[in-house]
Amino acid sequence: MITVSIEKKLRTYGGGQALKLAAEFLTGSVTKIYGPSGAGKTTLLKMLAGLVRPEKGKIVFNGETWLDTERNIDMPPQKRKIGFVFQDYALFPNMTVREHLQYATHDDAWIQRLLAVSNMTTFTSHKPAYLSGGQQQRLAILRALATKPQLMLMDEPFSALDTQIKIVLISELQHIFNELATTVLIVSHNLSELESFDGNVLYVGNQ
Ligand code: ADP
Ligand code: MG
Repeated sequence: MITVSIEKKLRTYGGGQALKLAAEFLTGSVTKIYGPSGAGKTTLLKMLAGLVRPEKGKIVFNGETWLDTERNIDMPPQKRKIGFVFQDYALFPNMTVREHLQYATHDDAWIQRLLAVSNMTTFTSHKPAYLSGGQQQRLAILRALATKPQLMLMDEPFSALDTQIKIVLISELQHIFNELATTVLIVSHNLSELESFDGNVLYVGNQ
């Protein structure tokens, strides 16, 4: 289980907006996070990953304290065993698809499986510039999965995929997350995009 309570001032025009959140996520559960643009969804994922620090807060993952601002604990991102799918993918321009995955894991059978379930097997020697937007997005998802993370944080992960590919991929991902008992947080500004993904729903924003 992940227990989160966080307070973070957001840099907004006009100022004064804060993100306050208290939530629990069960191990192996999927939570769909939605809310208006600018509400702080991306910032929330980055705080869980340890990439952004809240003014006040506590994050406990299966009894392990990742963050406690009162006790000055802030575990670095690489120790949190997280997979992060960035909204802008953050791929390495000089690495091929296979190299992205080999950089993350030495488990070749796992790499083969990830490539197969995402229909990426024929693109293994391509660098990002030679992939379509949808292929780049799938690579970002595969790379995050390659390390078999305990916690998968996905920021608008299906925005560049057409409906057919998205439905197949979501079904494959649900199998993998079940197998690994991964706790999953998926951010989307459009909940209907995640219709076929079973999970809880969490709203982030005023109201
Ligand atoms: P969303 O993903 O919901 O669209 P964001 O989390 O990207 O929203 O941004 C919400 C607001 O927080 C924006 O106004 C942005 O300027 C601000 N913001 C982004 N990163 C930080 C940060 N590290 N610290 C404080 N404010 C931030
Ligand atoms: Mg965002």
